[in-house]
Amino acid sequence: MERVLLDYGSGGKASHRLIGELFLKYLGNAYLNRLDDAALLDIHGPISVSTDTFTVDPIFFPGGDIGALAVHGTVNDVAMLGARPRFLTCGFIIEEGLPMADLERIVASMGQAARDAGVMVVTGDTKVVPKGMVDKIFINTTGIGEVFVPKPPSGHRAAPGDAILVNGFIGDHGLAILAQREGLTFDAPVCSDCASLNHLIARLLEAIPEVHVLRDPTRGGLATTLNEIAGQSQVECRIFEDRIPVRPEVSGGCSFLGLDPLYLANEGKFLCILPEQYAQQALEIMRSDPLGHHAACIGIVGQDHPGKVVLQTPLGGTRLMDMLEGEQLPRIC
Ligand code: MG
Repeated sequence: MERVLLDYGSGGKASHRLIGELFLKYLGNAYLNRLDDAALLDIHGPISVSTDTFTVDPIFFPGGDIGALAVHGTVNDVAMLGARPRFLTCGFIIEEGLPMADLERIVASMGQAARDAGVMVVTGDTKVVPKGMVDKIFINTTGIGEVFVPKPPSGHRAAPGDAILVNGFIGDHGLAILAQREGLTFDAPVCSDCASLNHLIARLLEAIPEVHVLRDPTRGGLATTLNEIAGQSQVECRIFEDRIPVRPEVSGGCSFLGLDPLYLANEGKFLCILPEQYAQQALEIMRSDPLGHHAACIGIVGQDHPGKVVLQTPLGGTRLMDMLEGEQLPRIC
């Protein structure tokens, strides 16, 4: 079996072969193919930039892999500011001995995810480190997007009276990774929701530029993300337990494992907070998209407990949902 060797990251002949035969094959475009020291980009107006490093374990999981995730995750962060993601950079840190077929599968998957999202990888870097110095492969991506709304959504803009929407079932990614890692099997297998949300976000913001907040509830899940927003905007986020979309298999898996789906990572979900008068229109736009069929209005923004997230149970009881304490699941993304 062909494996990645140390000199594939040396910058010499082997590196050049890897670039030509693998990276350009799957990721090539007019910018990347020039192979200069840096990429020359033409960007207009305000830009949105985000960077993230992906260390997910396992590197292949139901519904995705580390390559697709490295594209989706950064594309989504860039899009949350009301931007069209255009360019990505990617840096690989590879453990010596990684099967070449695994690397090829990951890079091919990145290429497909980038095409689907309409972004181009314009520059990259590869390092190979001795066996044991890193676990299989880590990938860093930085994304650049053009902001197309006059007033970009921000965690600081949630206002009392706003509705809180989510585009579908929560907790899928976290549970899929955990189940695969621990070798657990459920009656209905759970797949990661990992997907690029930029096309749906663009349609939403083109129709409703008045959106106040967009944020993807990744690590720490819905509860942690809402806490961030409640803190930034100094408002109360009140959510209703029975309106939060959770797949039965995810809630079943969570009760079995003693986990709360509200704290599980998502990789294809976003929260949309906007004036209540636009909530119905936003839900219709989301539900008309494959990534938003199960969109729901899950709560409202208030002012009783500034900086707090309040969960209201079906019987009318309430409890405070804190930010995630410690690391529930390391290497989830
Ligand atoms: Mg984010």
